[in-house]
Amino acid sequence: MINATAKNMGQQRIAIIGAGPGGLTLALILQRHGIQAIVYERESSDTNRERGGSLDIHEDSGQQALKEAGLYEQFQAVARYEGEDFRLFDKTGRLYMDEVADPDVPGTRPEIDRGTLCDLLLDALDPDCLRYGHKLTQAVPLADGRHELRFENGHTDVVDLVIGADGAFSRIRPLLTDAEAEYSGISMIELNVDRVAAAHPDLAQLNGRGKMFALGDHQGILGQLNGDGRIKVYLSFESERDWLDKCGIPFDRPEEAKRRLLDRFADWDDDLRNYIRYAEDVLLPRRIYMLPVGLKWSSEPGVTLIGDAAHLMSPFAGEGVNLAMRDAAELALSLVRHDEIGDGVRAYEEKMYAYSSESAEISAANLKLIFGGDAAARLKELMEQYRGQEQEQEQEQSSSV
Ligand SMILES: Cc1cc2nc3c(=O)[nH]c(=O)nc-3n(C[C@H](O)[C@H](O)[C@H](O)COP(=O)(O)OP(=O)(O)OC[C@H]3O[C@@H](n4cnc5c(N)ncnc54)[C@H](O)[C@@H]3O)c2cc1C
Repeated sequence: MINATAKNMGQQRIAIIGAGPGGLTLALILQRHGIQAIVYERESSDTNRERGGSLDIHEDSGQQALKEAGLYEQFQAVARYEGEDFRLFDKTGRLYMDEVADPDVPGTRPEIDRGTLCDLLLDALDPDCLRYGHKLTQAVPLADGRHELRFENGHTDVVDLVIGADGAFSRIRPLLTDAEAEYSGISMIELNVDRVAAAHPDLAQLNGRGKMFALGDHQGILGQLNGDGRIKVYLSFESERDWLDKCGIPFDRPEEAKRRLLDRFADWDDDLRNYIRYAEDVLLPRRIYMLPVGLKWSSEPGVTLIGDAAHLMSPFAGEGVNLAMRDAAELALSLVRHDEIGDGVRAYEEKMYAYSSESAEISAANLKLIFGGDAAARLKELMEQYRGQEQEQEQEQSSSV
């Protein structure tokens, strides 16, 4: 597997900032080609299990990256194909869509919990390349094109290539562009309903085995069954940036906070309000940010970005993790194929701009639709259009074989 170019690249010092799904996938694919990169992560240990819920991994992006990482069969063994089930309601509890995955035909977007996905990557990665407890504070460009990396704990490193896989508020991004992550107009409050099948069978039945969206009044209750038996709930609101500070919901007093939230959904179907009633006592408020759609920069040989650092978008196209993993695969393979780091970086960036801007446009359009008027009916229409297009493509493919 190690060709002359990969051997040449293996002599360069490469640092990846961030051990999220993007950074880990990149390190692993490089490792499979004999290139050892160092991954610097600010947390003191792996925290992917605590950060976020179930992710649908797409056939043409996330799954391809897992193939390049040599993990596809392991992924298939743990992926939840039934997690593709989708139910769509409006605020009155009227059901618009009830998609149930066909047990005989595996779908193209199975689910896996973020923690499980990252465990697969970590188990395959040489632990010597991981440096936890290293928060990057600054990357300083040097005259010879390399970068000096400075960390909060006093550690420094000088590298030929630094890759920002450090998410929404990347410390590497300012080396390439002035663009900053901006508030998307949506704030969320994350809740969890644990052991839902045993503790709340009524809600388990309402939610189904996958995702549930209930939409109306420029807000939504989004439920998602995770592999550990909990439903992750994202109460989502179209709102001003400072709404979470000003709304008066006391997030540190859960019972009172849940009462206030139930008031915000007072005229919604009572069964849907159980997503709030049954929730555990931890409420996590968060603002959703995005980078400008179609962001590009002028390429520099010793530095680039992948994942949210490159193209942060709202989660309403379900593409974030898939793009982070696709970027990882595209960059790793481009570095392997090119003798010069700069050529590899440039070729990756050109390709990445095209596919990521398409997803960012879809995500921005979906956000508008989901928080606009008549949202459930319009989302149903849109999803039926997608399904129709997918079927047409499948028919074209099978007739051309
Ligand atoms: C509420 C919500 C729901 C989502 N749902 C979905 C979904 O259903 N499907 C989907 O595909 N995507 C979803 N996403 C998006 C998805 O989580 C991200 O797109 C994905 O995690 C991006 O991966 P990444 O590796 O680029 O960055 P991240 O996962 O953000 O990882 C960045 C890593 O860098 C580290 N880091 C940050 N700064 C520094 C520093 N200075 N020094 C060292 N390390 C640093 C962080 O600790 C972290 O480990 C959702 C996001 C949110 C907020």
